[in-house]
Amino acid sequence: MPLKTPEEYLESIKRPVNLYLFGEKVKEFWNHPIIKPSINTVMKIYELAQMEEYKDIMTTKSHLTGEIINRFTHIHQSTEDLVKKVKMQRLLGQYTVCCFQRCVGFDTANALYSITYEMDKKNNTNYHKRFIKYWTEVQIQDLMVDGAMTDTKGDRSKRPKDQPDPDAYLHIVNENDDGLIVRGAKVHQTGFLNSHRAIIMPTLSLRLGEEEYAVSFGIDTNEKGITLVYGRQSCDTRKIEDGKLDIGNFKYGGQEIFVIFDDVFIPKENIFMKGEVEFSGELVNRFAGFHRQSYGGCKVGVGDVLIGATALISEYNGTEKASHIRDKLVEMTHLNETLYSCGIACSSLGFQREAGNYEMDMLLANVCKQNVTRFPYEIGRLAEDIAGGMICTMPSEADLKSEEIGPLIEKYLTTCEGICAEDRYKVLRFIENLTMGVASVSYKTESMHGAGSPQAQRIMISRQANLAEKKKLVKRILEID
Ligand code: SF4
Ligand code: FE
Repeated sequence: MPLKTPEEYLESIKRPVNLYLFGEKVKEFWNHPIIKPSINTVMKIYELAQMEEYKDIMTTKSHLTGEIINRFTHIHQSTEDLVKKVKMQRLLGQYTVCCFQRCVGFDTANALYSITYEMDKKNNTNYHKRFIKYWTEVQIQDLMVDGAMTDTKGDRSKRPKDQPDPDAYLHIVNENDDGLIVRGAKVHQTGFLNSHRAIIMPTLSLRLGEEEYAVSFGIDTNEKGITLVYGRQSCDTRKIEDGKLDIGNFKYGGQEIFVIFDDVFIPKENIFMKGEVEFSGELVNRFAGFHRQSYGGCKVGVGDVLIGATALISEYNGTEKASHIRDKLVEMTHLNETLYSCGIACSSLGFQREAGNYEMDMLLANVCKQNVTRFPYEIGRLAEDIAGGMICTMPSEADLKSEEIGPLIEKYLTTCEGICAEDRYKVLRFIENLTMGVASVSYKTESMHGAGSPQAQRIMISRQANLAEKKKLVKRILEID
């Protein structure tokens, strides 16, 4: 059965990469205290897939090989698959309370599966077969794959070919019978370092004359010519201090990488789009649609834990019976479940593409993500309200543990009878971590910009709002011709 154990996964990513962090090259990144939590997070995916309890949600049967595979490598075969995807993401959010990184390649594969089919049908190319071969290897080896879309984009007022620096958008710089040479950079690359492979896509809808930018391909993440720079996250150096209390969520974390492609060779068999500008926009939309659906699962799981932490701190503070506290917890739950409803709804209303795979409802997926750009901020605001100012004024763990001052801090941090001051400290730090520390990257900024910033969803919503049809509804009831 092609399911890697977490340990096998860990061993498989121990490879040389050209990685920088704090201006220095990192060797054996898997041992780096700032990076390690992001690896623990991915290991959790592999771990849950081994558990009988989660078999139905974490694994499925491949339509390509007939084997049982990790759901993160699946091509959706029904709306039930789409619903299970969102449930799986909520589950992982609950376990890790951060971005678990493996959805990007998953969503890319599901978008490319139908796009390559449609390109071939129109242009008589052979991308679909090629992609199936590539993805079958991913399923058999249970590989973690990233999806890379966002270019650095240079001057936003200019098209790719008018940029002062032509590398502002990743592009083909050379071509021969064996393949392509590409140059450029992809930013905000979730889990790139922890992935075995990545699939690169264009970042926007391209026009005639912009063929060199319409390129999609698969690549090993440690390919020659690729340089990685580790993205900083708020309060990340707390992970290199002694102790773990000040970190908050000390076990798990997300990972964002700045990826530079310096004349990287792409062999022919790994190319899934080359110059088909007319399909670039649809590839962007489909990938974004799948990823906007994903957020109706992953952020909800994180929200569950934040709501739990908020309820717990109100218990520790002795405020849990106050009616306004109870009402705020209801509001947090309402917001969180609204996001989930959107994730489930866009999945349930999914449809079959000509290639045979299933895709979520595009309008509802965009409504889902638009809500995700707002509700986690409100949930976080209410968590901060209930937790109190202590989340950002509390002394350090070193002070709490100090023989000199520690007992006094503990005395004054103690609240209700039977509540241990250190437990209260842990929960307060955890809320700090999620609302303004390392994990706020996953819970807030990623909610805002991941899978496209809010305006990108509004454009998609406006395209599908179908106002003409809605006007007809009024005319019908009012008998207006
Ligand atoms: Fe998955 Fe959510 Fe992270 Fe995207 S932000 S990779 S959907 S966990
Ligand atoms: Fe994301």
